[in-house]
Amino acid sequence: MGTKSVLHAYAVHEPGGRFEPFDYEVGELTANEVEIDVLYCGICHSDLSMRDNDWQFSSYPLVAGHEVIGKVSAVGSGVTNLSTGTLVGLGWHCGYCGHCHACSSGDQNLCQAATGTIIGHHGGFGDKVRADAASVITIPDGLDPKCAGPLLCGGVTVFNPLVQYDVKPTDKVAVIGIGGLGHLALQFCRAWGCEVTAFTASESKREDAMRFGAHHTLNSRNHDAIEAAAGSFDLILSTVNVALDWNLYLSTLKAKGRLHFVGATLEPLDVNVFQLIGGQRSISGSPVGSPQTIGQMLDFAVRHNIAPQVDFFSMTQINEAFDHLKSGNAKYRIVLSN
Ligand code: NAP
Ligand code: ZN
Ligand code: ZN
Repeated sequence: MGTKSVLHAYAVHEPGGRFEPFDYEVGELTANEVEIDVLYCGICHSDLSMRDNDWQFSSYPLVAGHEVIGKVSAVGSGVTNLSTGTLVGLGWHCGYCGHCHACSSGDQNLCQAATGTIIGHHGGFGDKVRADAASVITIPDGLDPKCAGPLLCGGVTVFNPLVQYDVKPTDKVAVIGIGGLGHLALQFCRAWGCEVTAFTASESKREDAMRFGAHHTLNSRNHDAIEAAAGSFDLILSTVNVALDWNLYLSTLKAKGRLHFVGATLEPLDVNVFQLIGGQRSISGSPVGSPQTIGQMLDFAVRHNIAPQVDFFSMTQINEAFDHLKSGNAKYRIVLSN
């Protein structure tokens, strides 16, 4: 007979609902699992989209939260890489199959059998969260645990394309949308050595964008200004979740340039193929990053003093925090603390 215990969390029970205290029972840890005492958990726009079932795959009760910083409180019998008391982070994935082609190639984030931390699994908006040890990352010295959570999803999502596409320090990179992901993308791209342009729809964010590392800012909805940037960029990272004039953005790419989506725009792309053929341009997308890339990204962040700019709320104010994110006023990532 296994021992059962009760974890305390916040769950929504229907699309668009409010978070309410929610207890759930868990059994003994499996051999490869760890349990983490949640200290801090960031709120990603994906948590809001999952709360509201925007992507039609939320299941309720939903305990969201996938930018966890905490301390390992228990380890399964087969866990050798983590011990109790270690400061760790957990992101979008809480487990991988471990043996598919993607997993064995070091691309665990592309594992089609990966478990999502908040998909059919209870996430970090609570006192504890469980995850397979393979998905749990040790937090290096030099990172402030209070602010580090957003690196585990938002940070790696914008860092990973720099690694995947071998972006060069001589490249000109643009970031569309200066929110949670975007403000980190500016910092990473600047530290990578690139010339960085921020596209923002919020005039009030232009100064901050420069402070985060942009050399230039442009209004993401100003047709003439974007048209004037024709042929400028090697890489554009879109972090927005809305439809923009993508053909106009494609025209701002150099030959062989790439328009890369990390923002979950739901509207299908309406793309003029000649924009791709003529300049041999590409369109692509990617999800978060592998555990190894998360580790690399954290080390890079320590070395270059890259840190999320955070608005703090206590875990008990989770609904106010979601209202704040939805209002568009978060500057630039919200973190809940226990
Ligand atoms: P966020 O903090 O809300 O930032 C999104 C930004 O998009 C806003 O700050 C805003 O920037 C811009 N934006 C919003 N509405 C706009 C509009 N109507 N027109 C133009 N720009 C608009 O969200 P986030 O947490 O960074 O997440 C961004 C997206 O990435 C979401 O769709 C999220 O689900 C997705 N995501 C994907 C992955 C992945 O693995 N691929 C991982 C994490 C998140 P400005 O004010 O500067 O215009
Ligand atoms: Zn996320
Ligand atoms: Zn796999």
